[in-house]
Amino acid sequence: MKFQDYYKVLGVSRTASADEIKKAYRKLAMKFHPDRYKGKEPEKAEEKFKHLSEAYEVLSDPEKRKLYDQFGENWKHGQDFQPPPGGPQGFAGAGAGGGAGFEGFGQGSPFSDFFETYFGQNYKQSFRSRGGHARFRQKGADLRAELSIPISLAIRGGKSSFEFGAIGTCPTCGGVGFVENHVCPTCGGTGRIRERKTIDLKIPKDIRDGLKMRLRGLGEPGIEGGEKGDLLLTLRIQADDVYHFKGADIYAWVAIAPWEAVFGTKVDVRTPDGVVVVTVPKDSKAGQKLRLRGKGFHTAKGGRGNFYVELRMALPEHLSEKQRQLLAELPKEGPSTVLGGAREVS
Ligand SMILES: [Zn+2]
Repeated sequence: MKFQDYYKVLGVSRTASADEIKKAYRKLAMKFHPDRYKGKEPEKAEEKFKHLSEAYEVLSDPEKRKLYDQFGENWKHGQDFQPPPGGPQGFAGAGAGGGAGFEGFGQGSPFSDFFETYFGQNYKQSFRSRGGHARFRQKGADLRAELSIPISLAIRGGKSSFEFGAIGTCPTCGGVGFVENHVCPTCGGTGRIRERKTIDLKIPKDIRDGLKMRLRGLGEPGIEGGEKGDLLLTLRIQADDVYHFKGADIYAWVAIAPWEAVFGTKVDVRTPDGVVVVTVPKDSKAGQKLRLRGKGFHTAKGGRGNFYVELRMALPEHLSEKQRQLLAELPKEGPSTVLGGAREVS
């Protein structure tokens, strides 16, 4: 277990008054509280905030501070700490503990092993009422996330389930950060916990790559009963080997048999407007693109892109013996070399 230098964490001297400790804590907590921190690494700030809360929990309580001071001043922060036999004098429960946290929430303790051993479990039984942690009611912050949607789903429509790392209100302290007199042992004073959430999203009719959606109430919890923030979701469409897109235009290929290309045919194609019957004109060529006007994705301005069907030549998977014989006749009847693509002229 690592020694925690609580004075160092709060940046105060070992002789600091209760008032100085409170001031130091407030100043740092204002800076690093997840609801206020605007810097680049919010997770580090949250860790830092928990360390501050832990230090404050011990140093703001005269009884705990007295016990803590018994460890002496020669220990360095983060140094491997060998607990003195029997623990600090007058502290019955020393050496017990462990980061179990409150039963039922399974979150583990947000605090250090050092804290849990000397100031954790044994104190949790004795929370007293302090109150007075007045904070302004405030709407929770909005969260931002990107969601990948397979293009086939974007075209077909329907529902998509996705998981995201939501931030919930801490069930132990109700988001206040304190339980009665003490820093909340579940959330470390942040008032929030991280949780996985599953969302059933209905694919919007006007879906397009980059579409932004606001899912109300899925953002960060509000403060002091304020309403929850929103989840701002940006949809990203993922192409596959049949469909791809450029802007609002969709490109898909369909396979047709050589005789369908020669004599023309009709093929069913799945588009955002459902299955559309596409007429392949006679004497079509492989690689040719047929345009379905206005059947692409929606544009930001309310218009529609086009849907392009590319013809690819293929043979049925199983040819009958008779079909093979007929195919064998073809080269005998005229030119039979086909050029195109990377094929070299020999
Ligand atoms: Zn809590």
